Amino acid sequence: MADHSYDYDVLVIGAGPGGYVAAIRAAQLGLKTACAESRETLGGTCLNVGCIPSKAMLHASEFYDAAANGAMADMGIEVKPKLNLEAMHGQRIDAVDGLTKGIEFLFKKNKVDWKKGLATFKDAHSVDVGGETVTAKDIIIATGSSVTPLPGVEVDNDKQVVVDSTGALELSKVPKKMVVIGGGVIGLEMGSIWNRLGADVTVVEFLDQLLPGMDGDVRKEAAKIFKKQGMTLKLKTKVTGVAVKGKKATLTLEPAAGGDAETMEADCVLVSIGRRPNTDGLGLENIGLETNKRGQIETDHDFRTSVDSVWAIGDVVPGPMLAHKAEDEGIACAENIAGQTGIVNHDIIPGVVYTLPEFAGVGLTQEEAIEKLGDKAKIKVGKFPMMANSRAKTNHEPDGFVKIIADAETDRVLGVWAIASVAGTMIAQAAQAMEFGATSEDIAYTCHAHPTHSEAMKEAAMAVQGKPIHI
Ligand code: FAD
Ligand code: NAD
Repeated sequence: MADHSYDYDVLVIGAGPGGYVAAIRAAQLGLKTACAESRETLGGTCLNVGCIPSKAMLHASEFYDAAANGAMADMGIEVKPKLNLEAMHGQRIDAVDGLTKGIEFLFKKNKVDWKKGLATFKDAHSVDVGGETVTAKDIIIATGSSVTPLPGVEVDNDKQVVVDSTGALELSKVPKKMVVIGGGVIGLEMGSIWNRLGADVTVVEFLDQLLPGMDGDVRKEAAKIFKKQGMTLKLKTKVTGVAVKGKKATLTLEPAAGGDAETMEADCVLVSIGRRPNTDGLGLENIGLETNKRGQIETDHDFRTSVDSVWAIGDVVPGPMLAHKAEDEGIACAENIAGQTGIVNHDIIPGVVYTLPEFAGVGLTQEEAIEKLGDKAKIKVGKFPMMANSRAKTNHEPDGFVKIIADAETDRVLGVWAIASVAGTMIAQAAQAMEFGATSEDIAYTCHAHPTHSEAMKEAAMAVQGKPIHI
């Protein structure tokens, strides 16, 4: 299959979950493959400074919180925890080390060559990687994304006063007062970590609710839950400036709709207002590839860009900026290059916020379903509270619900939303059911093990027909 006029059949630019997975799949399919990565370690944002280190800190801080704030005492375990933040960071670093080295092992195992350095296109088949020219028949752009800056606010992770998500993962002491700018996924995950460890956390969000993109009921419940956990929420408010003096920051806040400004002091400010695609320095101008208004690279259904033999996947293309979406696109793109039929169903990409409880969803929100079908009467909704789920109740995890939105005529499931301690795990069954075109009745008549949180999914499906057992 190798075309000897090029060094490689496939060159992937970027070794995040999109790129490294694409490279491995391409190699598995018999294509001679290289992957260019400018970081010291493989795994991209996700393994180095994203999904994995944040989950390491979320998991550890959850234990600390349970010990410090009574959840363990409720189960008869009386302890007075002492925070060893350095050790907590140590286990985070170990997790990252282990997993990034694991990708290096997988590259060797699958004979993927790692080209170390920043890649810049010279033409559509050749790329400069740190001074070396690498040619390939097909090139996949998987350069990911980085933090969106807030105009007028300077992030300095070393000083630990105004930080982005990478800085917020590495704080060497618990801030007394932390202000999170942006009540999205990063703001709430990072805010939860430091709130649990003792910081007084305020979340400033421009919109009238947290977690844009999630179902309306879920967003309302999120506000209640995070307030109950001790966070202060300032909704419909925008940050217009942050001044730093020594170790203190002063934020200027304004009502989103306009009005009088106020100021707020903090020891630490997290800027988490979104991420933007990475294309700077990639030399797209050398191959005549333009980005859209949001800086993303547009592709067709098969992940081809407008330039022949150049493909793109992951955070750098439109769609949710999620690791599993990038991975699935990586697999499909490599399969398409190999002449197979690689497909990603972008209508069924689950999203999870890994706080406690977790917030998860897949498919349409209730608002989207009504808009799509054109009438409220065209959908049916079943909801079941975790409070009535025997396992959640026994485990002292009463917060949350499962909500299933189905087409009123066909009963086909259109969207599933869950707030539960293990909602991220529960949502997989919903995604799979939807992938198989399930009706709510299919879920309701599937036997679920007892006692599990997942029984709430079955009961929510029964509630679509108006017949749940336990409420
Ligand atoms: P990336 O992972 O960003 O990888 C791109 C790689 O390309 C980088 O390593 C970069 O160095 C390299 N690169 C860029 N340009 C060049 C170049 N010119 N030459 C060579 N190399 C280059 N998603 C989830 O699904 N679940 C989570 O729990 C989750 N948690 C997150 C927590 C945080 C704090 C953050 C910041 C993100 C989180 N995400 C999460 C999002 C997830 O990390 C991204 O969606 C995912 O990493 C995107 O994968 P990617 O392969 O497209 O790009
Ligand atoms: P986000 O888009 O989730 O949230 C940003 C929030 O900031 C929005 O609610 C927005 O309204 C608000 N905002 C924007 N400007 C503001 C201002 N001036 N003042 C106040 N609020 C303002 O972005 P994020 O939380 O930075 O996350 C970036 C990406 O990383 C997301 O797309 C997400 O998918 C991904 N991510 C995923 C996970 C996960 O899957 N668990 C975890 C972390 C990050």
